[in-house]
Amino acid sequence: MAASELSANSDTNIPDYEYTDVNTKAFHVGSFRNEWLSRLKPGDCSYRREDEDTFDANFAKELGVDAETMAELKTVCSLDSLRCHPEDQQPDTDVVPPDSTLKTLVQRRKRQDYRASLKYSKNRHELYADELERLTFGRKPEAVVDTVPEGEVILTINVYYPAVYETYNYIRPHTTLLMTGSHSLAELRDAICCVSDLQVCGEFSNTPDMAPDFISKDHYKSAFFFFEGVFYNDMRFPECQDISMTTIEWAKSHNFPAYSQAKMEDTRFVDLNVKVGFPYLYCHQGDCEHLVIITDIRLSHMNDCLDKKLYPLLTHKHRVTTQKCAVCHVFIGRWYTTNDQFAPSDPCLFCDKCFRMLHYDAEGNKLGDFLAYPYVDRGAFN
Ligand SMILES: [Zn+2]
Ligand SMILES: [Zn+2]
Repeated sequence: MAASELSANSDTNIPDYEYTDVNTKAFHVGSFRNEWLSRLKPGDCSYRREDEDTFDANFAKELGVDAETMAELKTVCSLDSLRCHPEDQQPDTDVVPPDSTLKTLVQRRKRQDYRASLKYSKNRHELYADELERLTFGRKPEAVVDTVPEGEVILTINVYYPAVYETYNYIRPHTTLLMTGSHSLAELRDAICCVSDLQVCGEFSNTPDMAPDFISKDHYKSAFFFFEGVFYNDMRFPECQDISMTTIEWAKSHNFPAYSQAKMEDTRFVDLNVKVGFPYLYCHQGDCEHLVIITDIRLSHMNDCLDKKLYPLLTHKHRVTTQKCAVCHVFIGRWYTTNDQFAPSDPCLFCDKCFRMLHYDAEGNKLGDFLAYPYVDRGAFN
């Protein structure tokens, strides 16, 4: 494209770096998709594979060579001609030659030796992640109506853990989700698993059976995303409040640029103006604040998971170590107690079984003096 055309397009929705290799300038996601669709040929974003002859013919045309040269190129560049062993020998590809100097082979050897030294090759989390990837790669839906449409945009979204734990100051644990342009922000909100939505408030030493009825997510439903000067509030339920109002009014009274509001349930990703690579905000439960970074926006491809029902698609999940019960050291903590004469520490963490065995008699009557609070481990979503 000529330079004059480029500058004429600089105010359109073709992403351009604001800070090189960090983030782009803001652009409109839907218009960005349209820019692509208007430039691509219909076949370019089709999920149907061309047959080999058509592919070769098109490829020859792009290269500007005739069919004969194309056929010759195919033979010369074929995998069969790439050989480092005699023609009649078929080496075992799993065996790395012992004195190879090729860097890739040296690395591969190291990796093989490391794997052989492990007691278990993979833990259950890694196995699960592998299985998830295997199941979703290029997956086609059962019903045609559930296919992600051709030319749909797919966004890669990283949602970061709130920086409230000291150990997170040096690492940036997050989950990565794939979403389509037609998803709403409310669907992103529902896909974010955060332990503060599950906190149970209150002291329950007298009525431990009552506890699970109080979950923060059911009580405090307000939340917002903040993208490019707009607060997108969750207003799906009658209890929802516009919790961005305080910030907007504060900004107004302090001569900050004006912020505006919209509803997250009415906003689809294609409607958004965003910068790729730029940190935005998701806030819920009053002060649980997560950074949200859109790291990629692209058109869908036939190798993507094409089953709409599997989106938002989780592709990465950080695992945290779970806090175990102080008595059995086996199960994840469900209760913590304070002022507890039975406990080895204050506060002290118990699994449900140990907690009840130690603090209540067979009829469920409370024994001794203590305060008990339900506890939700932040590894609960591992
Ligand atoms: Zn949170
Ligand atoms: Zn226990």
